[in-house]
Amino acid sequence: MAAKSVSETPSVPSDHLMSVYSRTPLAFERGEGSRLYTTDGEAYLDAMAGIAVNALGHANPKLVAALSAQAAKLWHVSNIFTIPQQTELAKVLTDATFADVVFFTNSGTEAIECAIKTARKYHWAKGEPERIDIIGFDGSFHGRTMAAVNASGNKAYLEGFGPPMPGFVQLPYGDHEALKAAIGPTTAAILIEPVQGEGGARSLPDSCLRALRQLCDEAGILLILDEVQCGLGRTGKLFAHEWAGVEPDIMAVAKALGGGFPVGACLATAKAASGMSVGSHGSTYGGNPLAMAVGLAAMAELNSPALLDHVSKVAGYLVQQIEGLKARFPDVVADIRGRGLLIGIKLHTPNREFMQHARDARLLIAGGGDNCVRLLPPLVLTLDEAREAIEKLEQACLAARAKIPA
Ligand SMILES: *Cc1c(COP(=O)(O)O)cnc(C)c1O
Repeated sequence: MAAKSVSETPSVPSDHLMSVYSRTPLAFERGEGSRLYTTDGEAYLDAMAGIAVNALGHANPKLVAALSAQAAKLWHVSNIFTIPQQTELAKVLTDATFADVVFFTNSGTEAIECAIKTARKYHWAKGEPERIDIIGFDGSFHGRTMAAVNASGNKAYLEGFGPPMPGFVQLPYGDHEALKAAIGPTTAAILIEPVQGEGGARSLPDSCLRALRQLCDEAGILLILDEVQCGLGRTGKLFAHEWAGVEPDIMAVAKALGGGFPVGACLATAKAASGMSVGSHGSTYGGNPLAMAVGLAAMAELNSPALLDHVSKVAGYLVQQIEGLKARFPDVVADIRGRGLLIGIKLHTPNREFMQHARDARLLIAGGGDNCVRLLPPLVLTLDEAREAIEKLEQACLAARAKIPA
């Protein structure tokens, strides 16, 4: 596509922010649990949770206490020093998962960046430096660094940023034969979200994930899971891959890990991380005491059978009720997808308009690819709040139907 012509004196946006978001004027002042309040006291039910971030609700007292206590003591030291809270959170994460080691980041995309580097370095250290290809899938989203956009292959996120980077291969989602054919002597790893988030809440069947694991084992390549959105309780298991009963070699997490404080992590087996040595990677802020204090408090809450049961119960109720809406509004609701409290509703009417209808009913929901909207509420959403969300979704369906041309 030809480059767009830029006028000599481009207009300056009134908010002085780079124009990369289409924002609504809605601004919030405070939150509590699953509720957000505007400056004039208007309450919204939050069923997007900052894109699956505020999993424990807004202003969660335990997270507030952990952050405040740490803020009064020590915010930051360099990673050349021992950060005891980092060791502590790494132990919590490795005790709870397949992983042996952790690298802490400030975001999901940095966790993906570390995952890709770790996979390539693994093969390099084994004497197979030609194994650089990361196989990704249509409709995936892995963040916005150059490696992450190249891994997802989404044209809209790549255009204008130079030639595609070598070492990234994209395949159709769920085409096992295409995948088998694509694995070769330059393949390093397969990178996949067990439940796609931004791409439209598509859940990978458990049998597919098991087949991926087997393919990786046979080919001697690594399986990288992106659980930045679907991990940490969202699907009703601590990690989504647990449903399939298989384990990855490397996994990226973030979003719910800090409950709103920026923190991510790249988890790996000792074997997969065997190429990562002193100087291979680093981060100024990654794993600093503030982030670790919040991460520890969040993990203590998220890694709880009672919370995971609650997620399954509330998700079951929501999906059953949304099925009801689909039956009553077949002209609006096309399909229901996802897993647990990562619920996608594919629409016949424009999803951006539907999000506004929901906001008009004081309900916040997220958008998604393939003309979906997503429900990503705090995992602590109560059944009463879930009922309220359904009433508001019904109002949004009515408003969407009213706009369908006769
Ligand atoms: C949000 C997200 C990312 C990127 O996380 P950031 O913190 O925005 O960098 C990566 N992968 C998935 C699946 C995500 O949902």
